[in-house]
Amino acid sequence: MVDNLKRFGVISSKRVAQVMEALDRGLFVPVGSPAYADTPIPIGYNATISAPHMHATCLQLLEDKLQPGMRALDVGSGTGYLAGCFALMVGAEGRVVGVEHIPQLVDMSIKNIEKSVAASLLKKGSLSLHVGDGRKGWEEFAPYDAIHVGAAASEIPQPLLDQLKPGGRMVIPVGTYFQELKVVDKSEDGSIKVHTETSVRYVPLTSRDEQLGGF
Ligand code: SAH
Repeated sequence: MVDNLKRFGVISSKRVAQVMEALDRGLFVPVGSPAYADTPIPIGYNATISAPHMHATCLQLLEDKLQPGMRALDVGSGTGYLAGCFALMVGAEGRVVGVEHIPQLVDMSIKNIEKSVAASLLKKGSLSLHVGDGRKGWEEFAPYDAIHVGAAASEIPQPLLDQLKPGGRMVIPVGTYFQELKVVDKSEDGSIKVHTETSVRYVPLTSRDEQLGGF
C-alpha cells in the first residue's frame, strides 16, 4: 500500500511512509474488506474510513505540527487510524485526542488501537479517544499544534479556530456537495490564513441524528 502511494507520488515524506507502514490499516477495517486498496471503506453508521491517499495527504500537510511532544486533535476520528498515526508521530511526550460522536465507533477505535503498535500510547494516556461533538473541539487539552477534521463542514467551526495554537495548522474539508480540503494556518500573532489544497468528498460533519437518519 505504502509502496504504491510512493510510486504514484502521493507520499514523499519518509516519516509519513514509516508511520503508515507501522500502523497496519488491516486492523482498522471490517474483516473481509480490501484493507490495502486505495479506497474508502464503509465502517457502519453512515461513516467510512478515508482512502489511504487521503490519510497520507493529511499527514503530510500536518507533518511539521506532528513533531515529538506536540499536541493534535482529530475530529471525527472514526476507526482511530489517523489518530493512531498522529500518536506515533508525537510520541509519548505528545498528546493526541480523537473526538467522534458515534459511541460504537469510539469503542471500535479503542479496540483497533489496542491491537496495534499504538497500544502503549493509548495505555499511557498520550492518546485518548472520546465520544463528543467534534464541532466543539476538545477544550481539555487545547491549544493544539495540529487539528484534523475527517468530515466536511459547511464552514470552519469557530471553536476549532479558537483551539488552534498560534503557529498551528488545521486541515479541514469544507463544503456540502462540492468540497475543498482547506489548510488553515494560524500565525504567531493569531491571524488566520486559509488556502485550498484540493477537491475532496467526505461524509458531512453533522449531528448524530442527521448522520443516522435513514440508517
Ligand atoms: N478519519 C476517520 C473517519 C472518517 S469518516 C477514519 O479515517 O477512520 C468521518 C467521521 O466523522 C465519522 O466517523 C462520523 O461519525 C464522524 N462525525 C461526523 N460528524 C461529527 C461530529 N459532529 N462530531 C464528531 N464526529 C463526527
